[in-house]
Amino acid sequence: MFVSASLNSMLGAALLVLWRWDREHVHVRLWGVSWMLLGLGLIVGPTFQDAFPPGLLHDLQALVAVTALMASLFLQLSGALHYRDKKLPPVLSWTAFAIVLVVLSVLGARDFRIGLIVGAVVLAAGSFACGVLIWQGGERIEHIVALFFVASALVHLSGPVLDERGRSPITYTAGLYVQTLLSLAQILMCVRRARKEVRRHYERFMGLADQSLQGLAVAQRGKVVYANPAVRAIFGYEDRTGAPQSTLADLVPAHLWGEAEERHHQVLVNPDLRFEWEAVRVRRDGREIHIRAQSSHLEWDGEPAELLLVIDDTSRHRAVEALRRQALHDELTDLPNRNHAFSRLQLLTEPGSRPLAVLSADLDRFQLVNESLGHEAGDALLHAIARRLDQRLPEGCMLARLGEDQFLVIAEGAASPQDARVVVDAMTALLEAPFAVADAELFVHMSIGVALFPHDARNAAALLRCAESAMHRAKHHAGVSAVFFDRAMDGVTRARLEAEQSLGRAIAAGELLLEYQPKFRAGSRTLAGMEALVRWERPGRGRVSPAEFIPAAERTGQIKALGERVLELAFKQMAQWLARHDSVPTVAVNVSPVQFDDAGFAERLLSRMHALRLPRELLEIEITESAAIGQMSRVLPQLQLLRDHGVLCALDDFGTGQSSLTLLRQLPITTLKLDRSMIVPLPAADAVAIVQASCTLGHSLGLEIVAEGVETEEQAAAAERLGCTQLQGFMLGRPMPGEAMEALIAHAQACGAERRAAL
Ligand code: C2E
Ligand code: CA
Ligand code: CA
Repeated sequence: MFVSASLNSMLGAALLVLWRWDREHVHVRLWGVSWMLLGLGLIVGPTFQDAFPPGLLHDLQALVAVTALMASLFLQLSGALHYRDKKLPPVLSWTAFAIVLVVLSVLGARDFRIGLIVGAVVLAAGSFACGVLIWQGGERIEHIVALFFVASALVHLSGPVLDERGRSPITYTAGLYVQTLLSLAQILMCVRRARKEVRRHYERFMGLADQSLQGLAVAQRGKVVYANPAVRAIFGYEDRTGAPQSTLADLVPAHLWGEAEERHHQVLVNPDLRFEWEAVRVRRDGREIHIRAQSSHLEWDGEPAELLLVIDDTSRHRAVEALRRQALHDELTDLPNRNHAFSRLQLLTEPGSRPLAVLSADLDRFQLVNESLGHEAGDALLHAIARRLDQRLPEGCMLARLGEDQFLVIAEGAASPQDARVVVDAMTALLEAPFAVADAELFVHMSIGVALFPHDARNAAALLRCAESAMHRAKHHAGVSAVFFDRAMDGVTRARLEAEQSLGRAIAAGELLLEYQPKFRAGSRTLAGMEALVRWERPGRGRVSPAEFIPAAERTGQIKALGERVLELAFKQMAQWLARHDSVPTVAVNVSPVQFDDAGFAERLLSRMHALRLPRELLEIEITESAAIGQMSRVLPQLQLLRDHGVLCALDDFGTGQSSLTLLRQLPITTLKLDRSMIVPLPAADAVAIVQASCTLGHSLGLEIVAEGVETEEQAAAAERLGCTQLQGFMLGRPMPGEAMEALIAHAQACGAERRAAL
């Protein structure tokens, strides 16, 4: 019995050791304690049963033995319940335990035999219940344990059956084997369950790692010791089932190795460190990828390792790069764009920065290239210019495209006007050779405005403004290609700005009025018509030239209101004259291309004339050549509508732009106005040739041809001889107020009447 008790206690101790390794399994502890209590019960009970004579000590010994045995039974039961994830409420367990104990003690004290039988039955029932619990839904090892429990129940019952006092050697021997085997089987069952659980956890986590879209890798001593499928796919090692047996160095570009190695080392030595980083890595096929990752410390096989959570960020990174590029680059020329140039300029103009020069360069007449050769040719030309300038501008110059046909050069270190002049000269020289575009050789001219930092302005925005206003100045001076900014321009710019702002009020307040400049028939020099020219009588400032405020009004869009006002004034005047005179000559009104933006412009004009009962052929619309070219699709249908209703159309300033034949054929015009610049040099030979050619052209199209800006009799005579049908200019008549013009009309009428009478 002593051997049996010791064995049970030792096996119980073994279970407790098992439990200490994995404290989650409560049943192991319960069973361990149960076996130890059983050992105690057996030693105190049967082993030393006769050590004391009947009396208090004897009774106490019996009580301890019974308590230990019953406690052992309850712990077995409780363990079995735990094993099956079931539980009895503690109150119930304790109450049952106490009742059994009291009943057994009382019965035992009264009659040992009855106590013995009841005790054996309780133990057998408990063991049997354990067997049933363990058997349910179990595997082979569980069935074996369950059978041992049942066997144990039988052993318990055999006690009182085989011997009056329960001391049969058969019971003892069978008990020794059955209990020992039961506890051994229990140990095996516990180990097996723990193993299964570990395996289940392992599989669960491996499944997670395998299914994870996030790359998971473990690196140790500079080597990748584990890599999940996601990370293998990222690095192109899909076909290998194990970890890519590469060293970290294979995956890291050489120039980034130092940084990666340092991080690896730090994470290994410091468990609390965690790095989030982004970097370029190399795939197995040599392609570079952009990854985002987190590095942290991990114990791997008992040694420190680096756990890497990896995401392939290549496509997002590319998209961001592309966006950044798009935000800072000009698609067409691949040059930095305005944003890029501006932020660079901001950087270079911080207080204390080195001096520099900014060149704002604008192509002259670029719109004509677009219109005559097509937008593709225009784009090709911009591209070619960008290439040539970008490659050959002096060292330290940054070229950017600000928009349409506007370029910017930031010349770092150009401290003086002389330094800037060197860049301007280089630029001009580079543009001397023609550009081969769309089977044509195009010569390009640029107007350049130069501003110096810090001399002209101390910040990027102001500096750009200075360069741009210098550039506008260069544009206005024909032939001049570069203008350096000076303070006076600032004044001009400001005045222009102010004029722009007060123009709106001027239109409303009726500060605008019209003057009329007569046109005369060639040869007879009789009144043929007139041109209405707008004037702005600025309170306190006097007259402002339309050459100044018309471009401003076009920039701000105020030209629409202004144009309407001009037409209204002209119509009113015409109606007045018509009321007072038998015949009134044609009145030409200048119309800006911007006015055609409004698709209802022509129709509104016609209905207004209808309302005022004005004959349509009394009105002539003057549009400039470049204006017509720039807005062809809008201008053409409206012009056609006006023509269809009898309104006359003149092409203004002919000879200043592209003077294209195609255009002349396309536009439904009735009059060609040769620009003053063609007339002034008359009668010089080359001017004669040009005017003559233009007249031939005009005649072939059946057009009236007006010589503009005739200032001398020589010019008038030459124009008449060469084929101009009408003359306009200071020599024959300056722009004059309506009343003066009316006198002229009356005079012409009288002369006409006289002539008719003479005939
Ligand atoms: P434009 O249509 O070419 O008008 C002729 C300009 O040449 C007028 O200048 C006129 O005064 C000037 N001129 C006429 N004969 C001579 C001459 O013999 N010698 C010289 N040196 N100049 C002469 P103005 O009135 O200053 O007008 C300038 C420009 O403003 C016009 O050029 C026209 O483009 C624009 N403009 C004038 N009025 C209007 C208008 O009501 N609407 C629009 N949209 N533009 C207008
Ligand atoms: Ca005109
Ligand atoms: Ca003109």
